[in-house]
Amino acid sequence: MKNFYNQIYSVLGSLTPLKGDCGRACNKACCEGDKDGDGMYLFPFEEELYTALPSWASISETDFEYDKNKFAPLFSCDGICERSMRPLSCRIFPLTPYIAKDGELEVIVDPRSVGMCPLSALYVEDFEPDFVKAVEEVGKLLLTNPETKKFLEAFSRLLDDCRFI
Ligand code: SF4
Ligand code: SF4
Repeated sequence: MKNFYNQIYSVLGSLTPLKGDCGRACNKACCEGDKDGDGMYLFPFEEELYTALPSWASISETDFEYDKNKFAPLFSCDGICERSMRPLSCRIFPLTPYIAKDGELEVIVDPRSVGMCPLSALYVEDFEPDFVKAVEEVGKLLLTNPETKKFLEAFSRLLDDCRFI
């Protein structure tokens, strides 16, 4: 599955949510975990890319069961990383592909970004169009594999819980 993720990463390339560096205004708030257990979910099989885990990262278990007895691992870091080694969740943040209840693939602002990321106040249309298109393309690729599809469906329901709190 390394090729699968390399393909996904290459869709995103060096695209960013906005034209400039959004981290200048917020001091990279999304990279500043403030407690143990902060981190980003790895997508199914993404862990295979971290056979040699960099010194600035760790991977732990979570109780997010996206399929029967399949739990998403959590990727945590020291707040500074080698960009080429950051996981998919970091590359698309604060947007995310999302499967609506009618099964349609959408791109939404990740509701978990509210209160932390200044971009969470924007509409998807306000983001860099090429970035939005790339996140949608990532979603389409995730739907081509049964396990990443299952993950995206379960993850979308998890986001629903955050959206409507
Ligand atoms: S994605 Fe949001 S929290 Fe992260 S650097 Fe950009 S503006 Fe800051
Ligand atoms: S891996 Fe990199 S991009 Fe992701 S939270 Fe850590 S420092 Fe930020």
